[in-house]
Amino acid sequence: FSFMAATPISSLFPLIEHCQQQRHVYLDSAATSQKPQQVIEAVGNFYRRDNANVHRAAYTLAVKATGEYEHSRALCAAFLSAPRTEEVIFTSGTTEAFNLLANTLPYAGDGWQAGDEVILSQLEHHANIVPWQIVADKLGLVIRVIDVDPHGDLDLDHFQQLLNANTRLVSVSHVSNTLGTVNPIETICRLAHANGSLVAVDGAQAVAHCAVDVTKLDCDFYCFSGHKMYGPTGVGVLWGRYQLLDQLPPWQGGGEMIERVSFDHTSYNQLPFRLEAGTPNISGVIGLASAIAFINQQDRGQIAEHEQRLMQSAKSQAAAIPGVRIIGQPQQQSSLFSFVVDDCHPSDIATLLDEQGVFVRSGHHCCQPLMQHLGLEGTVRVSFATYNNDDDVERFIVALTKACDLL
Ligand code: PMP
Repeated sequence: FSFMAATPISSLFPLIEHCQQQRHVYLDSAATSQKPQQVIEAVGNFYRRDNANVHRAAYTLAVKATGEYEHSRALCAAFLSAPRTEEVIFTSGTTEAFNLLANTLPYAGDGWQAGDEVILSQLEHHANIVPWQIVADKLGLVIRVIDVDPHGDLDLDHFQQLLNANTRLVSVSHVSNTLGTVNPIETICRLAHANGSLVAVDGAQAVAHCAVDVTKLDCDFYCFSGHKMYGPTGVGVLWGRYQLLDQLPPWQGGGEMIERVSFDHTSYNQLPFRLEAGTPNISGVIGLASAIAFINQQDRGQIAEHEQRLMQSAKSQAAAIPGVRIIGQPQQQSSLFSFVVDDCHPSDIATLLDEQGVFVRSGHHCCQPLMQHLGLEGTVRVSFATYNNDDDVERFIVALTKACDLL
């Protein structure tokens, strides 16, 4: 009596049901996941029944919208096992969360000095590289990069060698969006903290697939996007320890981030509002709350097992096709993998799969430095979510076999 037999979870996702009717297979959840009916309804119902701006007006409708918006913040805090609700800052996504951090953290307190260092890793997505490069150029910071070993795991010895008295921050992904590597965040935090450095974590590829407890991880900042975890696009979270967030200067001005404004002097609101300028993505935040409720309704252990089984099955069957080379074999791998086919461009493979109704991603996956490190132009990436099933794996393998025969 298997998980899939008991609950055809795909029936909760209108677009996945539609895909199944069309004999299409969606294997690009790492780019964005599909949305369950309840999230689609939460967004629609907000506009149908509850739409008003938040935090400003005193009339009933606005109070209700504000209540829902702030309720979502509390759900996000609980979702991350964060100590305080005010530690959740809503952003437009992981990218904006890192831009917020890079535009404020180096200026907090006495500020970082020229020669201060930020450690990133070879695995990082551009969203956790470029914001640091921009501020590094302004302040004369040095960016150091943790090596990745041939399996796709971070080289922790190299990490320890990089840590030094100038290391202000270590900013690394929880799960690699290209190789699926699950990084040892607890160990990284322990080593970084022993060195007096802070740790920021890119959780974009983690939150949909494993329970995240920022208290247990002991990180200082954690970022994620709603749309990769069954929620809407245009909404995400920066979580940070209260004492650290409280030291961040304002970064965007306007809206609820002020306490009092005059032309002589402006004072700023308290957390979390000080770091959220302008009218936020209210419907997105409410949709995110619904996505969290959806995840909380599932047995997370069972989902992780299900995704793991599909990923391992697809990976080993793909590896058995002549010419296919799986990229990376990390110790712990989340629900995605990358591969290349000898003498074929990844986009040609993706096109041949698309022609057979199988939707996968090809390219550099916003990880150009990793591609350079691997000596590859790109890969084909296959990623799974809770709504995928054995039939999807089988159709992918049949399509890939045919594509490889054709090329
Ligand atoms: N980090 C990782 C690991 C990602 O996979 C992504 C999305 N591809 C991002 C950051 C950026 O997320 P978003 O585009 O939602 O801001």
